[in-house]
Amino acid sequence: MAHKLLSAASGKSGLSILIYHRVFDQPDPFLPDVPDITQFSWQMELLHHYYNVVSLEKAINLLQSGQLPARTACVTFDDGYADNFLHALPILQQWNIPATFFVASGFLNGGMMWNDRVLETIRHYRDNQLDLSAVGLGSYSLETNEQRKKTAADLLPAIKYLPPSQRNEVVQHLKQLVNHQLPVNLMMNTTQLKQLHSSGMEIGGHTLTHPILSSLTNEQAEQEIRSGRDQLSKLLDGARIRYFAYPNGKPGQDYTNEHAEIVKNLGFEAAVSTSWSTATSASDLFQLPRFTPWDADPLKFAIRLMKNTVLPYE
Ligand SMILES: [Zn+2]
Repeated sequence: MAHKLLSAASGKSGLSILIYHRVFDQPDPFLPDVPDITQFSWQMELLHHYYNVVSLEKAINLLQSGQLPARTACVTFDDGYADNFLHALPILQQWNIPATFFVASGFLNGGMMWNDRVLETIRHYRDNQLDLSAVGLGSYSLETNEQRKKTAADLLPAIKYLPPSQRNEVVQHLKQLVNHQLPVNLMMNTTQLKQLHSSGMEIGGHTLTHPILSSLTNEQAEQEIRSGRDQLSKLLDGARIRYFAYPNGKPGQDYTNEHAEIVKNLGFEAAVSTSWSTATSASDLFQLPRFTPWDADPLKFAIRLMKNTVLPYE
């Protein structure tokens, strides 16, 4: 089993496209699976030394020409968090790693995605009891940090697949509950986005407001994808937004083949999902699979395995 995982992660059978969301300055007890600077740094160092890390553009060209070298990898980030610019960019530059950042443009400049609003509310709520019965989600004890973590773990999946209107109702309710200010700098601002782009990193589309596309009509989905792209392009002085990442990204659940068709018809050159696999020349360019190098996921497991048993590391 371990051998199989190691061989899959080594990229021999295809292109490994890594997914990241955030890189913290220090470990966050609420999000233990998210890498901090130290962890991200050794992961990039390892990639730099043992993989052929290329841009998405180059990887797609190599895939299409059937000339993909073994152990080829791409690095991608989803959503547009400010820590991508603050923490990840310097490390990527240190190891000369090109990355693609898929940005949900509607949250730039002070916005907050619903999952962060839930997390930050639980983190900052001063009461010991969070009563969400008004929006059909029950009441939660927040006396200890453990209870706060458990509440987050229970609430996030419960809210994730609510219909958009109902999810919005929950978000509005949370806004009313927390009187004092939640952080307004979680996502990138325009200056950070521009600097990320001008440093040579690729900026890709990730819709305007990060909806689960399959919960929308096709017209709404197209509008989300198109306006997200157009806003990014405008902020980047007309730069072409060539690639797209489906929000949540699970094929057949979060998006369908129809959405892949919409993305193609809008003029994107390729799109990525969150289906766990390596990409090959047989892969659909508009549904390229990716790895998630988080705890409990095979790639990370394999990286750790390589670090511990194959490579003289540390
Ligand atoms: Zn996302």
